[in-house]
Amino acid sequence: MQTQTVPQTVPQTVPLSGPSPGTTRTLTRHHWGKTGARPKVYLQAGLHADEMPGPLALYHLMTLLDAADAEDRIVGHVVIVPLANPIGLSEWLLHKPVGRRDLEGAQNFNRGYPDLAALAGDGLEGKLGPDPAENIRIIREGFAEALTGITPETEVDELRLRLIEGSFDADHVLDLHCDHHAVMHLYASSAAPGTADLLGRCVGATLALIEDLSGGNAFDEAHTAPWRALQARFGDLHPIPDACFSTTLEYRGQQDVSDGVAIGDAEGLMAFLSGVGAVIGGPDPVHRGPEAAPLAGAVEFIAPMGGIVTWITKPGDRVTDGQVIGHVTDPATRLRLPITAPTTGLLFRQELWTSCLKGQGLCHVAGQELRRQGELLSN
Ligand SMILES: [Zn+2]
Repeated sequence: MQTQTVPQTVPQTVPLSGPSPGTTRTLTRHHWGKTGARPKVYLQAGLHADEMPGPLALYHLMTLLDAADAEDRIVGHVVIVPLANPIGLSEWLLHKPVGRRDLEGAQNFNRGYPDLAALAGDGLEGKLGPDPAENIRIIREGFAEALTGITPETEVDELRLRLIEGSFDADHVLDLHCDHHAVMHLYASSAAPGTADLLGRCVGATLALIEDLSGGNAFDEAHTAPWRALQARFGDLHPIPDACFSTTLEYRGQQDVSDGVAIGDAEGLMAFLSGVGAVIGGPDPVHRGPEAAPLAGAVEFIAPMGGIVTWITKPGDRVTDGQVIGHVTDPATRLRLPITAPTTGLLFRQELWTSCLKGQGLCHVAGQELRRQGELLSN
C-alpha cells in the first residue's frame, strides 16, 4: 500500500477568517482540467465531519485523476474538496467527534445554504432571452454576482459561502456523506433521472430517494432548486433548463471506512466522470441501477422508550409494514418493546448506537407510498 503520494496538482487554498483572535482555518480545493471547460463536476466530502468514507474515496479518486491527467484524458473541469468542513473536523466533545452540527450554534452544517434564486432573481429581470444555453450563462453570472454580495455573519455561514462559491456553476455536484449503518444510497431531485440512474449504476447505490424540495436548503438542493424557482418565475417566456445535477451520496455507514472499499468507490466515481464526459476512457458502470423511491415515502421508526437497541434485521433487508425488526429493552424494569417496520419497503438505515433515548429515530424504511410532507430530511 502506497503511504506517501506527491500531488500533481497545485491545490487552491481558501482561507476562512476565523471566529476568534489568533485562529484561522482553510479549505482546500483541487482542480483537474481547465477552468471554464465543460462539464464542470464538483465533488466534496466530509461536510458532516464525522463521516469519513467520502473523504477517503476522494483521496483515492485524486490518484486516479492524476493518472488520467498524465494521459491527457481529462476534458472537463473536475473540482474536489476532500474535506469540506475544517470547523467540524476540529470539534470533538468528550473524546468523540461531533461532526454534524457546530458546537457554537448547534447548526447542521448541511442546511441553510444561500437561496440563489431569491438572491439573483430580481437582477435577472429583462436579461433573459430565447436561447436556453445563453440563459444558463446569464443566470450563472447572476448567481456569481449574488454570492459576492453576501456578507457572512458567523464562521459557519462563511464556510457555507466559500463552499458554494466553488460549486454553484458546476454541471454536476456530488456531496459525499454517510449514514449510521446503511446501504449505499443517494438523494436527488427529479430534474435528471437519467443522470441519477447513471450515478447509481456507477457507485452501486441500492436506492435513489427522489424529491424536488426536501426543505432546509441542504447543499445539494441549493444547486437544483434555484433553477426550478427561476423556471417558475421566468419560464413562461424564457426557456431555462435544469442546468445542474446535484446529489447527496450516502456511502454506507460511519464505520465502513477502509482502503479496499474506498478504492472501489473511487473507481465508481471515475466511471461517473467518464459517463458525463468529464474524463475520457474511464471504467464502465458495473452495478445495477438503483431502486427509485419518493423521499416522502421514507419513514422513520421512533424509539418508544430509552433502552438497549437490538436488531433482527440489517440494512438492505426488505420488510413489511408492522413487521418486528428489533427491540428496545429496559433491563431495569424488564420491559421489552418491539421495533416495527414503519412502512413496507427497503430497510436502508439502522441506528449506529446500541442504546437509545425515548423519541430518537432508530431506522428508516423506503416505501413507495407517500407518508410524509413538509420538512423531509432528518435533522
Ligand atoms: Zn451527512
